[in-house]
Amino acid sequence: MANNLQDTVKLNNGIEIPWIGLGVFKVQDGEEVVSAVKAAIKNGYRSIDTAAVYGNEEGVGKAIGESLKENGLSREELFITSKVWNADQGYESTLAAYKNSLNKLGLDYLDLYLIHWPVKGKYKETWRALETIYNEKMVRSIGVSNFHVHHLEDLLQDSEIIPAIDQVEFHPRLAQKDLRKFCKDKGIQFEAWAPLMQGHLFDNAILKSIAEKHGKSIAQVIIRWDLQNGVVTIPKSIKEHRIIENSSVFDFNLTREDLEQIDSLNEDRRVGSDPDNFNF
Ligand code: NAD
Repeated sequence: MANNLQDTVKLNNGIEIPWIGLGVFKVQDGEEVVSAVKAAIKNGYRSIDTAAVYGNEEGVGKAIGESLKENGLSREELFITSKVWNADQGYESTLAAYKNSLNKLGLDYLDLYLIHWPVKGKYKETWRALETIYNEKMVRSIGVSNFHVHHLEDLLQDSEIIPAIDQVEFHPRLAQKDLRKFCKDKGIQFEAWAPLMQGHLFDNAILKSIAEKHGKSIAQVIIRWDLQNGVVTIPKSIKEHRIIENSSVFDFNLTREDLEQIDSLNEDRRVGSDPDNFNF
């Protein structure tokens, strides 16, 4: 269980990922992403989650470079994730996409590279490319995103390396119970995207009452629920006070009753696309 923002969990290959990171989906390249990432690192975050399709890898890279200098950190102290976009899936194109992401970020390795979505007929070739990148020690760990149990089962049949992570939509309205159990059994770390349901939970009465009881915000209660469930989480904000708020979750404990009440909010409801039915 995490005790502070820099605590990590060991992935199935021994690499450690911080429990909490900053997500930068829909954050504009340039000043907006640079200031958000710099605020996060200055305030103790060590993990940043971007993707080629977010179009902000250059800004993330700039912020990393400046943050290392300004905070006296070394590259090894950060954990940087990016993802191969759907249009780039396939073996050679994924190898090229990885190099492109590294160039934009100005880095010579990533800590985690993910297949962004399970594109039918392509994701196994894409995975083979990730295995190559990993075997050539160009990346510290590889994983997938938006994979259901059946996608993972299919991938595992033909893969040499078990994904270190499955990053999927997860919040109190989308419990993902079967997938969480499957990942646990296979040694795949479960990671939440849209942990705050992209803002759709902030008027929920049950969460509000739990938050008030602990003197915390709803965002903090949800992020704490992630941690107490063993879920790596990457809430997004571009505002420094919220970036700080979302990481101030180590001074309280949700009781078993709190956890059960939050679990009871599940409606298997998504804000994003279903990985079995997406058209991008
Ligand atoms: P999120 O659930 O993190 O919600 C972000 C929204 O909540 C923002 O609009 C922000 O203004 C608001 N917010 C954040 N902290 C708050 C606070 N303390 N109080 C009030 N409002 C607050 O949604 P997300 O950005 O979609 O998900 C997080 C990250 O997950 C992304 O940034 C991205 O890195 C990743 N992601 C991955 C995928 C994928 O397909 N792999 C898809 C979506 C997102």
